[in-house]
Amino acid sequence: MLEKDESAYAIAQEQFDRAADVLDLDDDLRRVLREVKRELTVHFPVLMDDKSIGMFTGYRVQHNLARGPAKGGIRFHPAVTLDEVKALAMWMTWKCAVVGLPYGGAKGGVICDPKHLSLDEQQRLVRRYATEISIIVGPESDIPAPDVGTTAQHMAWFMDTISMHRGYSVPATVTGKPLAVGGSEGRPEATGRGLAFCVMEALEELGIRGPGSTAVVQGFGNVGAVSAKLLNREAGMTVLAVSDSTSAIFNGHGLDLDEVERYKAANGTLVGCPGAENIDPEELLELDCTVLVPAALEGQITRTNAAKVRAKIVAEGANGPTTPEADDILQDKGALLIPDIVANAGGVTVSYFEWVQDLQEFFWEESEINQRLHHIMSRAYKQVSAKAGELSISMRTAAYALAVDQVARATEVRGIYP
Ligand code: NAD
Repeated sequence: MLEKDESAYAIAQEQFDRAADVLDLDDDLRRVLREVKRELTVHFPVLMDDKSIGMFTGYRVQHNLARGPAKGGIRFHPAVTLDEVKALAMWMTWKCAVVGLPYGGAKGGVICDPKHLSLDEQQRLVRRYATEISIIVGPESDIPAPDVGTTAQHMAWFMDTISMHRGYSVPATVTGKPLAVGGSEGRPEATGRGLAFCVMEALEELGIRGPGSTAVVQGFGNVGAVSAKLLNREAGMTVLAVSDSTSAIFNGHGLDLDEVERYKAANGTLVGCPGAENIDPEELLELDCTVLVPAALEGQITRTNAAKVRAKIVAEGANGPTTPEADDILQDKGALLIPDIVANAGGVTVSYFEWVQDLQEFFWEESEINQRLHHIMSRAYKQVSAKAGELSISMRTAAYALAVDQVARATEVRGIYP
């Protein structure tokens, strides 16, 4: 986790500063781009099942809208803070820019633990939160999506709430919805699939074959579980270990991921999964492997443990899992780090496809979605890798430099209003 003195937003700003230095960005533009545009805090009541009233706090932050409407997920987690949501919103701006989507960045969050709320309570919470932030969201202004602790079901409730206010269905108001209400084929797997495409590009670049190489995945949620399965099935890699918020499991010959998924769904934990031994979750990040995929939360690879990471490639499934100090340590060790804004951009890319399909009311087949996703991910990877090589900088700084340049140019050409 982040050290007590570290702020996710300060880290996001430091990453921005490094790219701004590379670009020699002028001071005025720096001051515009290193701040978020809007931060909305809402405190709202929710009727609980026992008829008591629960009070909740939520946020919606928009970082920059120069390139289009804001886009970014909604997180339900007890540790959500405004600082974290601001960092996540800024990262979304750069992510959309680096893969070439016509969006700005946003993020939302509610301080809550969905594991301790019934489905009815979650539905009421989503509907009230959607109502509170409806003043700034909509298909033309800000389009939410799922993140940690939220699913397609939450997005369906969100879309229904906004549609009820308007008096007609507005499917393009949110992405990551179920197929039945205008969701897209391939969206649930998109982030993991995009990550697997990036890893395959990196393996090719380093001249490593997929079969015979190994992967370790931290976090077995939407991003982690799909990444693990696709690295195994499509890249031929052996997945040695996976973890969740309380436990980690390992098998030196490779985990049976279908069995792991079945076991986790049935028991709510990885502990005791047949064909695997329990290991210390901290140890998981330090396992000898070809690819390490942190796919849980931010602040996992820090100055404290970065020197112990033995992976040749770190592919960031999560947003912000590596601190700037840890970046430098990994760079010195010669590890290839595929930064979050590239590695996990598959999710927002297929969210963009979903929004386009909803607006056109014309839906594409999964093969077309995956083909377009592959094109965008592999183009972004190659552009970032070429920039890193050209300027002898890390993949993260190269990705930021490309992204910040896009947003700076859009901001400059639009001019400062009024
Ligand atoms: P999720 O809620 O589906 O899964 C999160 C997983 O991480 C769960 O298995 C949880 O048990 C585990 N976890 C939490 N704390 C952990 C810890 N300390 N150690 C190990 N595991 C831990 O969430 P998700 O949608 O998979 O998101 C994971 C990360 O990916 C987040 O950083 C999110 O912002 C990012 N992300 C998600 C998407 C998406 O499309 N869902 C897209 C881009 C980025």
